[in-house]
Amino acid sequence: STFQELGLNDDLLQAITDLGFEKPSEVQEKAIPILLETETDLVALAQTGTGKTAAFGFPMLEKIDVNSRTTQGLILSPTRELCLQITNEMKQYGKYCKGLNVVAIYGGSSITDQARAVKRGAQIIVATPGRMKDMISRRLVDISKIQYSVLDEADEMLNMGFKEDISDILSHTPEDKNTWLFSATMPREVAAIAKNYMHNPQEITV
Ligand code: AMP
Repeated sequence: STFQELGLNDDLLQAITDLGFEKPSEVQEKAIPILLETETDLVALAQTGTGKTAAFGFPMLEKIDVNSRTTQGLILSPTRELCLQITNEMKQYGKYCKGLNVVAIYGGSSITDQARAVKRGAQIIVATPGRMKDMISRRLVDISKIQYSVLDEADEMLNMGFKEDISDILSHTPEDKNTWLFSATMPREVAAIAKNYMHNPQEITV
């Protein structure tokens, strides 16, 4: 199939053309129509390098309201490197979405600068769990209006000991948001997150 057939809007299709992506990867083909067409939770079993960032990124970019400055999307990832990589990809994918602000929040860098960037209005925040929790407790970020949350590399986040931070962060988000969980493996701990924090998630495997 083509990206057009998946139902993406012209702003995204133009960015995809610029990037030279010729056709959707398997995870994109499976996830994008589900996430675009329904308001649902999703559990996706997918390795890195499969194009999963675009699989959740395109639908999130399509669904958020760029005319609002409210933070509507939250992407949690295990490491600073991955956080920056996702932020960079989201900015490229959303380059024609006028008014879009994607902000990265991660440890080991100035919290003041990150707070300032958030305050200017970020529709999407990409964060590592530790710094995110810190900024929530200092009231430097408001995620009470989040509509879409992504747990990327959920197995890695749990391996790194972020279970408590994740549940703390999610407790500050609305009950009726959608959660999209991506993981390379599905150990018991990841299944427990899906069970405890998600409602009848659709499941895909690539
Ligand atoms: P990810 O698994 O999201 O880290 O993506 C791995 C790499 O594949 C990134 O550099 C993306 O820019 C690239 N990519 C994602 N989707 C596609 C696609 N449909 N066609 C070609 N490259 C892609």
